Amino acid sequence: MALIVQKYGGTSVANTERIKNVARKVISYKQEGHDVVVVLSAMSGETNRLIALAKEAQERPDARELDQLISTGEQVTISLFAMTMMQMGYKSRSFLGFQVPIKTDTSHTKARMIDIPDSNIKNAIKKGFVPVVAGFQGISMSGDITTLGRGGSDTTAVAVAAAIGADMCEIFTDVDGVYTTDPNICDKARKLDRISYEEMLEMASLGAKVLEIRSVELAMRYDVPVHVRSSFNNNRGTMVVKEDKDMENVLVSGVAYSRNEARITIKKVPDQPGIAARIFTPISDANIIVDMIIQNTRAGDMTDMTFTVPRTDYDNAMDIVRKVAKDIGAEDVTGDKNIAKISIIGLGMRNHAGVATKMFDILFRHGINIMMISTSEIKVSCVIEEKFTELAVRALHDGFGLEKND
Ligand code: ADP
Ligand code: ASP
Ligand code: MG
Repeated sequence: MALIVQKYGGTSVANTERIKNVARKVISYKQEGHDVVVVLSAMSGETNRLIALAKEAQERPDARELDQLISTGEQVTISLFAMTMMQMGYKSRSFLGFQVPIKTDTSHTKARMIDIPDSNIKNAIKKGFVPVVAGFQGISMSGDITTLGRGGSDTTAVAVAAAIGADMCEIFTDVDGVYTTDPNICDKARKLDRISYEEMLEMASLGAKVLEIRSVELAMRYDVPVHVRSSFNNNRGTMVVKEDKDMENVLVSGVAYSRNEARITIKKVPDQPGIAARIFTPISDANIIVDMIIQNTRAGDMTDMTFTVPRTDYDNAMDIVRKVAKDIGAEDVTGDKNIAKISIIGLGMRNHAGVATKMFDILFRHGINIMMISTSEIKVSCVIEEKFTELAVRALHDGFGLEKND
């Protein structure tokens, strides 16, 4: 008998019929004697719909009000699920973020969790209820509803699993597990039986949305075994586990892409000490994560500075950068939202040379221009024109021989 946290994503709870399917699945675990805590997302498309409504009301929606609005999607699914369980003869109780409580900081739309007391969930289990927790939301120290960032229900699930000391966190989604690349854009993608936390962390941070990045960070930190699998069948999915020595033999284990990218260039920045700090401090103060940064070679005593930010933060970042550019006497600020980042990931890169060169060559042979490059121990990323994203994914998947063996 185990204590299991199960998270079901938007497609799995897209309507009342699917919610019934999830309830049947949960009941089958209960019948085997396990204790289950369920974490749910909003119905698929709902969070996007709510964001679109917010933008109709206010050009750049106020972050506090946006959180009040977009957190409602999960309120609908958890209450419907609890009712469905009762209809099927099981005790169940839903919990919004503040009822757990999932305590967060005050950073609206990308809040970080601070603490999750386990008593309310554990008491509910003791009394025979199946607790159902709203994914994606929390309550800030000042009493406001917060959300954890897109895809944040995964993070809720792993955090709850860590908080209550669960034996396992199962992430039920619309694909059979973690693949070598997104199976929805590359039909040769191969399901992985296992992936290391480190590689999963890179894949998630580079855009593979099958797991939200902070869920992987938490799983790694608190040693939560994570099983990613489909909610539509009983197939074994992918276990996210600690690295073992066999894993280093694989040079490239996956290809990831992200369209949530935008590029900003500040032209003719004075090439002096302290300038980078003046540019990037107000951006990080606004909680915007800068990814790649390139400073061109000096031309006279001026230089160009180019960097990327999430596309969702582009407008705010541009406002900040325009102001700073004026203050420091830079010539101009330009931006581009039609870019994508494409990456290859693999533990084996640590001790093999030539992987990056092979990637550049594959992209070149497909006529894809590289605008920016960044590398780390186990990944190489290139910024390319967005329209080439799918072509690049398939070319790299083929080029590195990641396709199915059968
Ligand atoms: P959920 O609503 O269940 O949270 P998501 O849409 O957030 O589901 O994540 C699942 C999706 O992630 C898949 O449908 C797939 O398109 C995408 N995806 C991207 N990269 C990968 C990958 N390497 N393996 C599996 N799925 C991936
Ligand atoms: N409903 C939220 C979103 O669409 C959270 C999630 O599904 O994980 O981003
Ligand atoms: Mg998701």
